[in-house]
Amino acid sequence: MSLEGPVAEAATRHRSFWLDEALATEPPSTTVLSGRHRFDVAIVGGGFCGLWTAINLVSREPTLRVAIVERDICGGGASGRNAGYVLSLWARFPAMAAFMGEEEALRMARASADSVAEIGAFCAAHGIDAEYENNGWLWGATCERHLGAWSAVADRLSRFQSYPFREMDGAAIAARWGLDGYAGGAFDAAAGAVQPAKLVRGLARRAREMGVAIFERSPMTELHRGNPPRVATSGGEIVADSVVLAMNAWSVGLPEFRRSLLIAAAEAAVSAPIPGILARMGFAKGPVVTDSRIMVGNLRPTAGGRLEFGKGGGHVARAGRVGPRFEGTPPRLALLLEETRQASSQLRGLEVAQSWVGPIDRSAETVPMFGALPGAERVFYGCGFSGNGVGPTHLAGKILASLVLGARDAWSSSGLVRPPSQLFPGEPVRAIGARLVLGAVARKDRLEHANRPVDRLTRRLAAFAPAALTPPKN
Ligand SMILES: Cc1cc2nc3c(=O)[nH]c(=O)nc-3n(C[C@H](O)[C@H](O)[C@H](O)COP(=O)(O)OP(=O)(O)OC[C@H]3O[C@@H](n4cnc5c(N)ncnc54)[C@H](O)[C@@H]3O)c2cc1C
Repeated sequence: MSLEGPVAEAATRHRSFWLDEALATEPPSTTVLSGRHRFDVAIVGGGFCGLWTAINLVSREPTLRVAIVERDICGGGASGRNAGYVLSLWARFPAMAAFMGEEEALRMARASADSVAEIGAFCAAHGIDAEYENNGWLWGATCERHLGAWSAVADRLSRFQSYPFREMDGAAIAARWGLDGYAGGAFDAAAGAVQPAKLVRGLARRAREMGVAIFERSPMTELHRGNPPRVATSGGEIVADSVVLAMNAWSVGLPEFRRSLLIAAAEAAVSAPIPGILARMGFAKGPVVTDSRIMVGNLRPTAGGRLEFGKGGGHVARAGRVGPRFEGTPPRLALLLEETRQASSQLRGLEVAQSWVGPIDRSAETVPMFGALPGAERVFYGCGFSGNGVGPTHLAGKILASLVLGARDAWSSSGLVRPPSQLFPGEPVRAIGARLVLGAVARKDRLEHANRPVDRLTRRLAAFAPAALTPPKN
């Protein structure tokens, strides 16, 4: 079947700060797919998910012939544009338990926590300088009304003696990291951070060294689901025993994912170097920070002494399309800057040096899904990371490799393996609903920060927003 236009759209021109920085030291040497090739496994998508899957496959079966076809360059998608928070799935424990049960949710959360440390160890072992740090994650509240946003997760976990969060009050947060705009928070000491584009480009280099063939600027234009499946690009074709679709938001070009993924823009920016301010704040080696807004805001220090900051919950794509609004300058840049300046009195003069946008592939369950496409048992998928993919794509690589290899093990039996649910509305309901819900979420947030009552209609509409971290309270 042919993919719809946007799936095979032209390569991105507007790069993130991270990718510009990574490419300056390691420019791409692009090989475009041409002609007909035979591989054991063809992976579509050269982000973290596709690359960890390739690395797992050839580590476990060194003779396996594995190829990746990438529309742009490796890291041109979300993996080279994100904020670099390396988080576990602990915060999604209630969401996972709701459909896979508590025991399996605990197992997956623990495995995802192992991934955080394993990513750092992999970088160290293979000379990937991804600026990996282990300074934790602060899940903060920027107003009194958001205090305890983490309680539902923390209380549930405390029943299993698996409580990774330590509560902190506003004074402690201000004293430790200079973030005096926070009323309180919960701190997860195990979380990490990376320069994401250096990680994804480093993984691509390592995959090549391990024998993986990588074809960049080679968008898949057609997927033939027969036996064997085939991946066609404008210039060539790969026939493979198995195909893995690791296409993130662009999966929505396939009918199976039209109603199982909601694609929302996340916007990001970086300041000029401000090492003196970060040092005065005590934040130069600070944790990665998120707030408790439904449209989650984030900020973190970079290794080069800048502040990186962003906000989720932007433009929602029409069903089945990603489209041009996921590239370029963030439309909400002024709001993003304003909210970040309020995080600390030391950041009042903060300015933007570079900004960008990227797509988030939100699943209804807020955690990724893996499996074989219904009716095409040799075509596997991994998508729906819902804005938390830097750490969990490492786990995805293990799960997808086991599925491809037909292994009956701890990974192929994961509770995350499930068919794509069809829970999001189609058009035109999605477009109209998204506008109403996003408006209500913004209104609710403004009222909460002004400590004013939120009307019933606003609360009810905002409750339709798929939760990033905090399910909207009614
Ligand atoms: C601004 C922003 C901030 C974020 N911050 C964080 C964070 O701090 N921590 C966190 O855990 N997660 C974060 N995320 C989410 C995280 O980036 C993703 O979950 C993760 O990168 C997913 O990896 P992936 O390999 O599935 O996707 P991608 O990196 O997007 O890889 C998919 C690849 O498929 C390619 N592709 C698509 N269609 C085709 C085709 N037809 N043919 C060939 N190739 C194709 C794309 O070009 C792309 O390179 C953020 C996302 C954004 C946008």
